[in-house]
Amino acid sequence: MTTLTATVCVAGCGPAGAVLGLLLARAGVEVVVLEKHADFLRDFRGDTVHPSTIEVLDELGLADRFLALPHHKVSTVGFVRDGHRLDLADFSTLGLRYPYIAFVPQWDLLHLLVGEAARHRNFRLLMQAEAYDVVRDGGRVAGVRFRGPDGDHQVRAHLVVAADGRHSAVRRAAGLRPREFGAPMDVLQFRLTRRDTDPDEGYHLRMAGGRSVAVINRGSYWNIAYMIRKGGYEELRRAGIQPLRDDVAGLVGFLADRVGELTGFDDTRFLEVRLNRLRRWHAPGLLLIGDAAHAMSPIAGVGINLAVQDAVAAANLLTRRIQQAQATGEPIAGRALAAVRRRRRTPTVAPRRCSAPPSDSASTARCAATPPPTTA
Ligand SMILES: Cc1cc2nc3c(=O)[nH]c(=O)nc-3n(C[C@H](O)[C@H](O)[C@H](O)COP(=O)(O)OP(=O)(O)OC[C@H]3O[C@@H](n4cnc5c(N)ncnc54)[C@H](O)[C@@H]3O)c2cc1C
Repeated sequence: MTTLTATVCVAGCGPAGAVLGLLLARAGVEVVVLEKHADFLRDFRGDTVHPSTIEVLDELGLADRFLALPHHKVSTVGFVRDGHRLDLADFSTLGLRYPYIAFVPQWDLLHLLVGEAARHRNFRLLMQAEAYDVVRDGGRVAGVRFRGPDGDHQVRAHLVVAADGRHSAVRRAAGLRPREFGAPMDVLQFRLTRRDTDPDEGYHLRMAGGRSVAVINRGSYWNIAYMIRKGGYEELRRAGIQPLRDDVAGLVGFLADRVGELTGFDDTRFLEVRLNRLRRWHAPGLLLIGDAAHAMSPIAGVGINLAVQDAVAAANLLTRRIQQAQATGEPIAGRALAAVRRRRRTPTVAPRRCSAPPSDSASTARCAATPPPTTA
């Protein structure tokens, strides 16, 4: 087993881990980021980059490069219910520097972030490095054990940050369990061809007859997210592909001529929606951020943005102490780590109220009244 050393070891290179890795690298911190996959090319991941996140990229000098990536801008968010459109938000009226959501494939965003971080020699990204346990020194987390293509290794670090997503292995190894809130639905994702003549209607959930679907413009195709009630997947499969095609055609009329592209359930991907949150986001030597601390519903499209904001908050609150730890070996105090959750609690709690497609006008109004997540 090889032992690497770093000041901070971040497990997971999703939006949270990549942003934190970049921010710490810029501050001269020796940081190792572990990513279990060999690449970032995973379809059907959150790709709704909100105005606040674009502003963060702007502050990092990355906005121009970000906006040069293939993307699609949307300024209104809402519902089309039984044919009637209801806009819940219109970013163009808020006087923002970037008054829109940019739909950017998550892998492009991650490539941009780690490419920028790699300009710093104190940043190391290890791909195909799967964290599976924590190293302990007494009662303190002092590193991470990970599995690579050539066997098992460990990184010893003053601070371990779990940014390894909703099924966080580091969280499990540290013995932390999130409080589960339950989710009323799961999501089936698939693609259908997009034509230039198709309407462009912002980011609107289409609802009718108790069914709902979101269609996301990905240039040459539509990324379709079809909501199914929790536990309803097997029943849907048993009914065969035709009822699904009919539903999509009924909900999104202009797709009726191509729902036949769905040849079977092998063309779809089932994604379990989970909603949970940790009561404490830290333990001695360990901090948890992003989905590892609070898994979000895809409905509000805030998951990436909250993950990025967690990383920014962690960097803002902790960088000076981390630099001190790097210089002196002094541990980072628990109360400093606890400040991250305190800063981020409200924005991570608020979107849960919008975690399911609203079933009535009261819940639609509640959703509309939910304040947008604040920046970090
Ligand atoms: C169906 C669905 C649709 C969604 N749609 C949206 C959307 O439209 N907009 C939005 O903003 N959010 C959406 N989300 C949520 C969003 O994807 C997440 O909230 C966001 O990606 C969280 O970022 P993260 O960095 O915390 O975790 P993740 O994005 O999950 O990243 C974790 C990273 O850690 C890696 N990893 C995992 N385990 C290990 C390990 N043991 N060792 C090393 N690496 C590991 C993973 O490969 C991954 O790269 C959606 C989620 C789902 C399930």
